[in-house]
Amino acid sequence: FLPGRHRMNAVRDTDADAVQVVRDETWFAGRASRGVQGLKAYDPGHDLVAFRRQFGEANLVELGSNENPYGPSPEARAAILDQLHSLHRYPDPLGADLKRALAKKHGVDAKQILLGNGSHEVLMQLAQVFAGADEDVVFSRYGFAVFALATQAAGATMRIVPALPDDHPTMPLGHDLDAIAAAITDRTKLVYLANPNNPTGTWFGQAAFAAFMAKVPAHVIVVMDEAYAELADEDAATALPLLAGHSNLALTRTFSKAYGLAGLRVGYLIGAPGLVAVMERLRESFNVNGPALAACEAALGDTAHLEWARERNAEQRVALTEAFGRRGLRAMPSQTNFVLVRFGPDTARIEAELTRRGVVLRPMGGYGLPEYLRVTVGTVDENRRLLAAVDDVLAEVRA
Ligand SMILES: *Cc1c(COP(=O)(O)O)cnc(C)c1O
Repeated sequence: FLPGRHRMNAVRDTDADAVQVVRDETWFAGRASRGVQGLKAYDPGHDLVAFRRQFGEANLVELGSNENPYGPSPEARAAILDQLHSLHRYPDPLGADLKRALAKKHGVDAKQILLGNGSHEVLMQLAQVFAGADEDVVFSRYGFAVFALATQAAGATMRIVPALPDDHPTMPLGHDLDAIAAAITDRTKLVYLANPNNPTGTWFGQAAFAAFMAKVPAHVIVVMDEAYAELADEDAATALPLLAGHSNLALTRTFSKAYGLAGLRVGYLIGAPGLVAVMERLRESFNVNGPALAACEAALGDTAHLEWARERNAEQRVALTEAFGRRGLRAMPSQTNFVLVRFGPDTARIEAELTRRGVVLRPMGGYGLPEYLRVTVGTVDENRRLLAAVDDVLAEVRA
């Protein structure tokens, strides 16, 4: 006896139209809320699962998603194994142990921390909580893709501020903080910044950020997305030192990049206790799973592993930047685990040829940067295979 099928047959008998007309995406979009009507789904890049099947994992060089090629701390793996006996239990709905560990690490109160299923979730929730119809959200052109998604999903208006020019002497395509401050109006509820930013790799320093915050009206909430903070030099600002003096400031971090735990989906926000309390109203219960909570807490404790991965990445980023330079390709300045590289007018063809050879990078057409590819900094071996494929393809394209 199949109750579902039984019900469907009943519908078929009484309302023939209902089963014959299959409504398409356009029809459902028309039924969606105003913000969602104009929305395009997040573009995760290539279908990696299909590529892995096609090439076999060992033959693939996956440098499209800014993952940490060294993986997480072994202690994070051990913590997950230790959780396997209690998968039938709900996780701690408060994530209290992880919050305590994060609070200690950052020198803040645990009440200042909100956990998310990736920082993507936290960034979406910020717009959902604080912005709506007839209100503005301000961010830079080439700012992280989720800023536009979050704003539109909330039904708010995007105020996209032109980036610094691509021939800027120090920060090509970077955030223009003066212009961002100037774009704030009475209707502005939120400003999203990313430091360092993805996909540009650009950053700004502490003094510039403090000067920016001094210009922002106190009713506007500034969100600093610091997904790459652990990989950046001290030169790149973090919002942490300014938090105490600015309750309208919040920062987001993630375990997906430097900590090598992208598969677990954990990010977090640090902000004023009141801001966190309001965000909690919309947080899904149990949004961070048990193994993830345990693994992140363990990963935080293993500072040696983090430092090791950080040093490897910094060294390989320099090597990769120089290697592209020797090939006449400009890698933009970066303090992250990726570089944005200008491949020029043949970018689409180059990218297709690289993909055919099992080298996966991230096309930038969706960002309005069709002559660039974003290249994750890999291990020595991955970078060697990448560059060999680039040489092969360039010889073909330039011939
Ligand atoms: C990768 C990334 C994130 C992190 O996303 P998660 O959802 O935490 O995996 C956030 N912001 C930027 C700028 C990123 O590049």
